[in-house]
Amino acid sequence: MKNKKAPPHLFVFFILIVFISWLYSFHTNSLQDMPDSRTVQTAAHIGQKSSPPVSPETNFKLVSLRKLNPGAEAILPQGNVSKVKLNTVTTTPKILKLLDNNQSGIILTFDDNTVDEWSSFLAFNKEYKAKATFYVCNFNNFTSNQIMKLRNLQNAGNEIAYHTLNHLNALQLIKEKSLNYYIQTEIFPGVAMMEEEGFHVKNFAYPYGAGNRELDNELLKYFDTVRYTFDSGKNEKISNIRSIYIQNNKTSVREQRVLHAVGIDNAYEYDLTEIFQGIDHAYNSNQLIILYAHGISDKPDNYGTNPEKLRAIIQYAYDRGMKFYTVSDLEKLVEN
Ligand SMILES: [Zn+2]
Repeated sequence: MKNKKAPPHLFVFFILIVFISWLYSFHTNSLQDMPDSRTVQTAAHIGQKSSPPVSPETNFKLVSLRKLNPGAEAILPQGNVSKVKLNTVTTTPKILKLLDNNQSGIILTFDDNTVDEWSSFLAFNKEYKAKATFYVCNFNNFTSNQIMKLRNLQNAGNEIAYHTLNHLNALQLIKEKSLNYYIQTEIFPGVAMMEEEGFHVKNFAYPYGAGNRELDNELLKYFDTVRYTFDSGKNEKISNIRSIYIQNNKTSVREQRVLHAVGIDNAYEYDLTEIFQGIDHAYNSNQLIILYAHGISDKPDNYGTNPEKLRAIIQYAYDRGMKFYTVSDLEKLVEN
């Protein structure tokens, strides 16, 4: 009987239904898999309706693109950082803006009178366009050859600043004599000698970091800034010493006439890792960090820095695209 067999068109219809169901399930699974299979999320995707809704503070972080361009950073989603193809994100306007906006910098300072050693800084002036400020004491004892070396440093873009005549402890001397005596003997004569040789000293550093508010007020009649030293005996992490950082904007710089620096010489026992973290803090917060040292020598005593250590510090700041400033440059920042 014909009617007892299943009609062929019903069988084809059944196969078709199964096939369509299979196709549908395959499509659905593919859609469910998509978010997990996404391996690359570039800056261009930020803001698109990827799941789930995010807040910029918690879900994005700055990622260094310094291999592509010193100082460059991109805002990228956390978690996908290692999978990001850097080449795909370098041309977005947001990132170009970040390239130009980093205002961090480094102020290198050297104290005392080892001008013969300081001359080795000329290599860093040339190689990295680095700059430093040299606070000079005992200028009355400089030979003509040493004065020439100091002039060479100045001509290379460094600043020559003032560190008194005889490197005495100001607080002790004032206690024994008077504030006026200190100014008349330790400040005026040395400044006059240096002026005569063409060094227009504008900034001052306290020997032994020994000063006080009253002395600041007096010295700031003659100098743009006075610089103290951070007491390394406090064993503070460099990145935690707030006084050695200046926010790079006009208001902050204008108000900062009393500066503080942290020592990088052997005596202060900060290794490179620690110093780099301090520089990182300046970089990440658009601030200027102030460091100080004394001599530059292959065999430095306690108050000296090895040239290779100095090079590593300069290289580190240079690689991040940080600017080098002299102390006088602070005044220019206010004017601009
Ligand atoms: Zn000194």
